[in-house]
Amino acid sequence: MKLCMIGTGYVGLTTGVCLAYLDNNVICVDRDKDRIGLLKKGVMPIHEEGLAEFMQQGVSKGRLEFSEDLGYGVTNADIIFITVGTPSVNGGEVDLTAVKEVAGGIAKCMDSYKIIVVKSTVPVGTQRLVTGIIADNLKGRSNFDVVSNPEFLREGNAVYDTLHPDRVVLGSDNFKAAKVLAGLYMPMGGRMVFTDPESAEMIKYASNAFLATKISFINEIANLCEKVGADVTKVALGMGLDSRISMDFLEAGLGYGGSCFPKDTLALITLADRHGCSLKTVKSAIEINESQRMKPVKMLQDCLGNLEGRKICILGLSFKPNTDDVRQAPSIDIIREIIRLGGRVTACDPIAIPNAGKVLDGVEFCEDTYQAAEGADAIVLVTQWNQFKKLDLAKIRKIMKRPVFIDGRNVYDVDTMLKLGFEYYSIGRRNYG
Ligand code: NAD
Repeated sequence: MKLCMIGTGYVGLTTGVCLAYLDNNVICVDRDKDRIGLLKKGVMPIHEEGLAEFMQQGVSKGRLEFSEDLGYGVTNADIIFITVGTPSVNGGEVDLTAVKEVAGGIAKCMDSYKIIVVKSTVPVGTQRLVTGIIADNLKGRSNFDVVSNPEFLREGNAVYDTLHPDRVVLGSDNFKAAKVLAGLYMPMGGRMVFTDPESAEMIKYASNAFLATKISFINEIANLCEKVGADVTKVALGMGLDSRISMDFLEAGLGYGGSCFPKDTLALITLADRHGCSLKTVKSAIEINESQRMKPVKMLQDCLGNLEGRKICILGLSFKPNTDDVRQAPSIDIIREIIRLGGRVTACDPIAIPNAGKVLDGVEFCEDTYQAAEGADAIVLVTQWNQFKKLDLAKIRKIMKRPVFIDGRNVYDVDTMLKLGFEYYSIGRRNYG
């Protein structure tokens, strides 16, 4: 099939590359000239396992191309995916500027029947809004259908998730258009869920809010475990082995971040408030998450007192492992607060330093973990990258000024850390002192 992705970020680029891998002809369009310039040169602008290799394959087979020209993409495709960003504004509203611009742009270039797919995460009602914008801006008499098809990929696993979806949600009033998309996704497997546009849009928000709530739930239980002498990792295991509960999203830590859960939970409660339904569970999940991510700062103050002039080493900047994305990452808030309290920060991450450098001032970034830890008054492990799971702990202990180790992701064993002489603090487990 001939496809066009408009918006070549984590979702658009991964979807486009994977659909080209499945022998479709794909044009990836973005208004960001630098990004398209890089892609045309074969340079992958984001970090996703396997994506660069698949991209190269797609380009060399003539299945994949990149363009800044929306008109070129639209006229040369039968199915057009809207995959632009939908950021949060004014404390929770979804900024649909890019979606609306793209919908108007598509309408002006349409020269034949097209299926337009809204893949960006958008509030309930947006499929109809997009349909209206296209109808209002159509130059000729071309026909079209709009399908809501929310995306569920996880950054860090984006290629795998795209090629192995649990389910494909297709929301449209026109079953024929939804069936065409079902055919496109068929080779990937996954159960097809055909529904109306409103339900499709709600499925995405409800899914993310549920997962965010699960994370905040286990973090709240972790905080209680610390008070009563229970171990949250054992509690989570005992709970998660119940197939009704599952182990997924049941790891206590510093809470969720990234470009989706924070904005999507806010968007859902904003939508609910507008309709007079207060979503109390989701509101609590957000509140718990906000305080959980600042827990290491409180721990640092409890053991070091005043942070003025203290050297704190942060391990991990991306919001989770295997991605370079630092949007809404706990590390960013933690670092800013330490610096506000007078602390000095060294930070280490395998790939997210360039992105973190764009949003943080006054941080000494180190490629080498041991250089970052040298002379530190404390280490805070924020992101559970593999390299931080295999530290030479004896060496770390030796080079630190004071062996305070705050393990925000419960990577290490409590007894081992205490035996090695660390003042070891983790989440929901027995803590030093
Ligand atoms: P992103 O910021 O990585 O990429 C968005 C791209 O759209 C950017 O490259 C930007 O330049 C481009 N763009 C913006 N306006 C444009 C316009 N008018 N014309 C052409 N290009 C334009 O965003 P993302 O993370 O890929 O997310 C895209 C959407 O998918 C969002 O709605 C997000 O909530 C949703 N989503 C994201 C994920 C994820 O893990 N990142 C997962 C599921 C759903």
